[in-house]
Amino acid sequence: MIKERIEKIKEKLQSGEAALISDEANRRYLTGFPSSAGFVVITPNTAQFFIDSRYFERAQETVDSCEVVLLKSALPQLAELLIIEQTERLYVETERLDHATVLKYKEELDPVVISDEPVLDRLLCDLRAVKSRNELQYIRAAQEMTDRTFTHILDFIRPGRTDMEVALEMEFFMRKLGSEGVSFDFIVVSGKNSSVPHGVPSEKVMENGDFVTMDFGAVVNGYRSDMTRTVAIGKVSDEQRTVYETVLKAQKAALDFIRAGVTGKEADTVARDIIKNAGYGEYFGHSLGHSVGLEIHENPTCSPRDETELKVGTIMTVEPGIYLPGKFGVRIEDMVYVTESGCENLTKTPKELIVL
Ligand code: ZN
Ligand code: ZN
Repeated sequence: MIKERIEKIKEKLQSGEAALISDEANRRYLTGFPSSAGFVVITPNTAQFFIDSRYFERAQETVDSCEVVLLKSALPQLAELLIIEQTERLYVETERLDHATVLKYKEELDPVVISDEPVLDRLLCDLRAVKSRNELQYIRAAQEMTDRTFTHILDFIRPGRTDMEVALEMEFFMRKLGSEGVSFDFIVVSGKNSSVPHGVPSEKVMENGDFVTMDFGAVVNGYRSDMTRTVAIGKVSDEQRTVYETVLKAQKAALDFIRAGVTGKEADTVARDIIKNAGYGEYFGHSLGHSVGLEIHENPTCSPRDETELKVGTIMTVEPGIYLPGKFGVRIEDMVYVTESGCENLTKTPKELIVL
């Protein structure tokens, strides 16, 4: 399975060309091996995973997509391989490397030409955008933990709890379910704080009449889930209900619209128009969604600027929101798997407004 990914990169390389992959998520994608260091070199003839002594033995046992090489000194070993492979042009992850690193490669690997074109970035991005059966299975498992965590937390939320307490309880429960960690730093914001789309959990005490927005996810085999729900405590005002119903309507319309062949931009427009027509256009400041996988924010996106056509096998979040400054905010986020005729919603938690 993972071998096929390497083969697809090999196919794109001409003789005399090589690819260097050092980004953590890309490296894991091509080896299946989690590590904090190391790099992969692919040429038309070979694929080698350079990894240091902390991981070497384990990598030898588990990695079968590449030849595993003990990493001692990165640049000399890389230069030596490029000479053996008669490499003239090296593709690097230009969009993920800092300028200084690229310069260092240019100096130290001379006369090999380091390409400035984001060829490798685009290729990896396209490959990663279409999930395999295994990847889908990991993400499904992560979302299942996320759904269960939501059900659990409903009994925990009550006036007097702080946003931070709720966030910690969610994290603790999710870890007990077997999540490898948190998909990202959880967002739990109540009352006025919910009007900040990416607010940080604080000592704010939850009160009757508050909306509580929770944005969270689990990790299985490195793959992430992402979900948001907004619930009310005690009572809701008419305005709160209207805003909630508007967000939900926008989300449902986008979910109905998404299928292979439409662009992220078109999906974003479907949801945005509903929010605009309800008079809240200026309060929906972010994109409708993003792809998810080994990283929480992957490409393509459902943003007003992304004209990439969605493909069968892509996973997208659909997360419209309305945030009224100084008052409250609502976001509802599901994760879907794009199919030929529509999309499968991986998020099983219901979305009718819950008043606790
Ligand atoms: Zn989220
Ligand atoms: Zn998201």
